[in-house]
Parts: sequence; structure tokens; C-alpha cells
Amino acid sequence: MNSPIPISDEHGRVHDYLRISLTERCNLRCFYCMPEEGIPSREKSVFMRREEILDLSETFVSLGVRKIRLTGGEPLIRKDARQIIEGLSELPVELGVTTNGVLVDDFIETFKRVNINSLNISLDSLRSERQGLISRRNYFARIMANINLLLKIGVEVKINAVIMKGVNDDEIIDFVRWTKDIPVHVRFIEFMPFLGNNWDWKKKVSFDEIMTTLGSGYSTEQIQPLPEKPNETAKNYQIDGHKGTFGIIGAVTNPFCSSCNRIRLSADGRITNCLFSNNKIDLLTPLRNGEYVEQLIRKSIWNKKAERAGIESFEFLEPGYKNRSMVAIGG
Ligand code: SAM
Ligand code: SF4
Repeated sequence: MNSPIPISDEHGRVHDYLRISLTERCNLRCFYCMPEEGIPSREKSVFMRREEILDLSETFVSLGVRKIRLTGGEPLIRKDARQIIEGLSELPVELGVTTNGVLVDDFIETFKRVNINSLNISLDSLRSERQGLISRRNYFARIMANINLLLKIGVEVKINAVIMKGVNDDEIIDFVRWTKDIPVHVRFIEFMPFLGNNWDWKKKVSFDEIMTTLGSGYSTEQIQPLPEKPNETAKNYQIDGHKGTFGIIGAVTNPFCSSCNRIRLSADGRITNCLFSNNKIDLLTPLRNGEYVEQLIRKSIWNKKAERAGIESFEFLEPGYKNRSMVAIGG
């Protein structure tokens, strides 16, 4: 078979990584992501059905996509998540899931069966009460038990921790200490602005500030940079002698756009070429009309801006700046 013409943008970036949101809904309400009351519910028919997700995924794979990650909202609360995971596992892709970890134990047999060997789990605090406050529901014990369960069966675990000033920035060193005996990879994520999350430039903890904090616990010689991988969003490090590693995702102050290879498909079947873009192209309606969506996919990606949907800096972002909520885009 001839190799497909890759999905590229006008800046020469090849896009071979698809992130699919399975649902906008979630069983948690992390305040940096979701309003307390959840998001307004929409008719079921506006969302992709399982067959449509598999159909669109096949199209993406035929255009060169080699990696698919399921996200949301919380992907594992979808009733047919298991069947979707099984269906996608038959495609020639590396399959991953980003989850809040609450339902991982229910899915462990499925993950084993389809060889999912790496999972991203959100955990913003190592303190039960604080984690409960941030996510407005307390499932700390279950999430921790699930992390241990995954490690026990040899699944690689990446922890996503959004670091916010005065909320959990006093735990940066604790997270790194956690990697001493536990082989997890912790990723500190800069707090990003999304619709309704009350973001403010002063609330984020920047890449540089995280590094400064690390410097108060470890010497420069102890903090060893790890080799950069292609399309990596994080700068990664390991403390000398620790089993685990950590990284910093500086989407706000240190964007990683130049090597971005990500395509996002929302639960309602719209393609977005950037987390910060308000431009979305509907693939679901044409699919339902029996049309071929390849050109729409190529058009969306071709028009991708060089950096963060054209936003040069977040520092002077208008207070009224509105993009969609993270759950609507698919994190
Ligand atoms: N529910 C799943 C989870 O929490 O992992 C998947 C969806 S969630 C939207 C995907 C990722 O986006 C999570 O790691 C979460 O921490 C991150 N996220 C959500 N809102 C964010 C924000 N305002 N700034 C930075 N990261 C954010
Ligand atoms: Fe739900 Fe994930 Fe958003 Fe938290 S970050 S509210 S777990 S979708």
C-alpha cells in the first residue's frame, strides 16, 4: 500500500496524533475545568455514536494518524467506552486514555486485553482533602488505589497536575519526592485559560517559577534533564536516583507549538486544530450525509496558526477572551 499524503499545515508540521473526546460530561468538577453545576446537557443526537467514532478514526488512520488518545470530559463514564476502546484497538495505532482515574479499576481487564500500556491520570494534590476541594468530589483514595493497581500490572502512569498559585503550588516538591520510590511520571501543567474557569495571569505558576521551587529542594546537579522526544509537550527531568521522573508543560509561558502534531475531535464531531482555537469544522454532519470528510480534515489542519491559535501572549489577554471550555474541546 502507498503511504498516505500526510495531514500537514502550512507551516510544515505533520499531524499524526488524534485526540478524541468521548463525552463532554464528567463525574468530577475540577474548578479549573468545569463549572460546579456541570455543563448544559445537549440532545444525545448531536454527539458521535460509537460507529461514527470508529468510522472517523479509520479515516484519520488512512490519512496517516498513528496515535489516538481518548479524553473528554471523562472518557470512562461513557456507557459504551469499553466497546469503543476495543474497536479502536483493532486499528494500527498506539492507543491511550487520559482519565481522572476514578473508574480505572472497572476497566482494568479491558486495558490489559487491548494492550493499553500507558495511561494519563489527573491528580492535582497528594492530599486527600485538597484533591477533594479541587475536584469538588472526593475520590482520592480510589484514584490512588487505581494508580497503584496500574503500576502493579506494569502500566506506565503519567500524572497530570495543574499547578495554581495558592492552591497546590506548595506541593511541587512533594510530587517530586513521590517519584523517589514510585515509578510515575508527574507532569506539572501551567494553568490555562478556558471559558468559565476564572483564569487570571497571576493565578498560574509558570515554568520558571516551578523550576525555582525545585531549586529550593534539589541542587542543579540533582535535577537531570532527560532527552527530548519528538512532539513532546513537556520538558522532562529526573532527580538523580529517583525511580520516577517529572516534566513541566508550559503551555502559557513556554509554548511547544513548533512541534505540535495534534488534531482534536470533540464529542460532537468537530475538528479543532488547536486547544486555543475557536475555529471548528463539523465532520459529523457531512459523515451522516454520506460525504467523504478528508478535504475538511486537511483544510482544518492546513489553516492552523503557527502558535496558539494566533495568541502571542496570555499576559494581556482581554478579560472577555472566550474560547470553549476544556471539556467541550476535549483536553
Ligand atoms: N477527565 C480526564 C482527566 O481529567 O484527565 C480527561 C479530560 S481533562 C479535560 C484533560 C486534561 O486537561 C487533564 O489533565 C486536566 O488536568 C487538564 N486541564 C483541564 N483544564 C485545564 C486548565 N485550565 N489548565 C491546564 N490543564 C487543564
Ligand atoms: Fe473532569 Fe477531567 Fe475536567 Fe476534572 S479535568 S472536571 S476530571 S474533565
